[in-house]
Amino acid sequence: MSFNIAVDGPAGAGKSTIAKKVAKNLGIIYVDTGAMYRAMSVFMIRQEMNPEDKEAIAKKCREADIEIVYENGEQIVKLNGENVNPFLRTEEVGKMASVISAIPEVREKLVELQKALAAKSDCIMDGRDIGTCVLPKAQVKVYLTASSMVRAKRRYDELVAKGQDCDLMQIKVDIEDRDYRDMHREHSPLKQAEDAVLVDSSDMTIEEVVEAIMNLAKERA
Ligand code: C5P
Repeated sequence: MSFNIAVDGPAGAGKSTIAKKVAKNLGIIYVDTGAMYRAMSVFMIRQEMNPEDKEAIAKKCREADIEIVYENGEQIVKLNGENVNPFLRTEEVGKMASVISAIPEVREKLVELQKALAAKSDCIMDGRDIGTCVLPKAQVKVYLTASSMVRAKRRYDELVAKGQDCDLMQIKVDIEDRDYRDMHREHSPLKQAEDAVLVDSSDMTIEEVVEAIMNLAKERA
């Protein structure tokens, strides 16, 4: 049986930064499930789908073939054979991802792919429903969170560092909207699994969070 670490939590809690470092330290793969929902979102945007038309999106998602490959340890998401990594990290794609991820047909398709990856390889997988739904038997489960102000400030600093003009309070509102949608959807809402360890990173450094997860992994290996 493979060794699996599940990390869930709201947008901007630092899941991917932390998970990448833990994966490197342990020599296991990092599976970014948000990137799969984002790839599906890119597909729907390109197809000019109306986010309100859930039925049409449920049908359309059958035409999106999403595949994960690793190149030099980096996860590449392929959408119908095309590497779509360069298109995943925009606000538009993130917003559409959080709308379409509420649709059961979209989730079923991507959850199946996630389960297959975790069964085959030791991995740390992050998302919203990994500990509760995708990998209920994961050896380590972490629920990583931080206050919405801290998360907004981190995203703001990232965007400013890239030279983008942005508004901190607007980012905070967007983060809170996304949290609300992710936590209140009917299917696989974001919540802490009963057996997950809660880590609030508001006042922790990246290294401290990585160390906390490494310690849990060593305990349970
Ligand atoms: O983590 P990231 O911001 O890339 O995820 C984008 C969106 O995909 C989230 O807001 C959420 O709605 C959805 N998602 C999900 N389940 C996951 C991972 C992401 O519903 N396991």
